[in-house]
Amino acid sequence: MSGPLYDVVIVGGGPAGCATAIALHQLGITKVVVVEGSDYSRVRIGESIPPDTRGLFSRLGLWQAFAEQNHQRCLGSYSSWGSDNLGFNDFLFNPRGHGWHLDRLSFDRFLADEVMSRGMDFLSGARFHQLNRNRKKGVINIAFTEGKPGKKQQLNCRFVVDASGRSASVARCFGARFKTQDNLVCVAGFFHRQELETDLALQHMTLLEAVEHGWWYSAHLPGDRIIAAFASDGDIILQQRLKQPENWHRALAQTRHLSTALSPAKLPLRLHTWTAPSALLNPPAGEAWLAVGDAASCYDPISSQGIYKALLGGLNAAPAIAGWLKGDSRPLEHYRQSVGEAFIHYLEQRAYFYQLEQRWPQAAFWQKRRIACGLYQGEAATAVT
Ligand SMILES: Cc1cc2nc3c(=O)[nH]c(=O)nc-3n(C[C@H](O)[C@H](O)[C@H](O)COP(=O)(O)OP(=O)(O)OC[C@H]3O[C@@H](n4cnc5c(N)ncnc54)[C@H](O)[C@@H]3O)c2cc1C
Repeated sequence: MSGPLYDVVIVGGGPAGCATAIALHQLGITKVVVVEGSDYSRVRIGESIPPDTRGLFSRLGLWQAFAEQNHQRCLGSYSSWGSDNLGFNDFLFNPRGHGWHLDRLSFDRFLADEVMSRGMDFLSGARFHQLNRNRKKGVINIAFTEGKPGKKQQLNCRFVVDASGRSASVARCFGARFKTQDNLVCVAGFFHRQELETDLALQHMTLLEAVEHGWWYSAHLPGDRIIAAFASDGDIILQQRLKQPENWHRALAQTRHLSTALSPAKLPLRLHTWTAPSALLNPPAGEAWLAVGDAASCYDPISSQGIYKALLGGLNAAPAIAGWLKGDSRPLEHYRQSVGEAFIHYLEQRAYFYQLEQRWPQAAFWQKRRIACGLYQGEAATAVT
């Protein structure tokens, strides 16, 4: 098997992959390389992080450096959920202080820089394709392409981490598959503040509004940008042609609260569509590999937990990998179980949250959520066993 030998190859340089690399470094495991497919130039989604994330930054030794970044403080959220009135959840009462609205691209670049500044190898523009395991030698060969048009390269490692997000492209090579519980689709537009008559009182707040066919959220981002996104089922988005800016804009104008908070003078030039499943990888770890972040489990964006989970996952994955490299597989088994248990906990919270909204009993979107929430508990239990 040609190519250099690392202790650990991490595929994916998003929050989960970078947190895993940094946490491994803290444990003295430094023969690590991150293989990242992109060059961090394309739009990324996921921008609200809760106050508790501060504790994770501290544990990763990143708090000071993060605090010097130019992210927007988030002081709480307004929501119209289960009622036409706007409720208010103020982070003032949170002992951890405020949360943040991230400039997501610069946040991911910041994490990658932190990995590199610790002297670990980081290959960007390097796309994982396949792996081969030599069980006798205890080595996994990783094949990837680098740059454009895509030069074939190889690496070897003793342990591989799948941090490739929802594609879970490494775990799939080991036969793991997602059990998907829900499949939301989000259509989002980005505005510059000058393009809006915006309520400045909302500048540091997240705004969430349930409507008959799904829900909307908006957040002010660094650089005077604002995101507004609609989440629904794929068939509803198709029927109502909500990927077309004029239809999306009309739907936004029909909201009670979001339309008052954001009155766009211009349509966003381009809408972006993301799927946002609730799904658990089965299994999330195995012999000489584990998945972390969205590669292990995906949460509904209503939870605003995806980045928190990715960072925490990196902190939990590192001791499991360290144990395995020393010949003890018990921490890896514990990691596998903890991913499943956290997913069950998430589903309980999600079910509670969706059941709070009872205003549209006949609407397909809400009916589906209620039925699904009832099934979740049993489904989730089988997913982790
Ligand atoms: C519409 C929407 C809104 C969201 N809002 C929020 C929010 O407000 N707050 C929040 O916390 N979370 C939110 N999330 C979730 C959040 O974005 C994810 O949970 C988070 O990005 C997961 O981090 P990750 O590192 O696991 O995966 P990712 O961020 O997806 O990173 C995976 C990395 O792997 C790389 N990669 C993929 N395939 C390969 C390959 N073959 N080879 C090499 N590299 C590869 C990618 O380029 C990427 O850099 C939202 C998600 C959606 C869809």
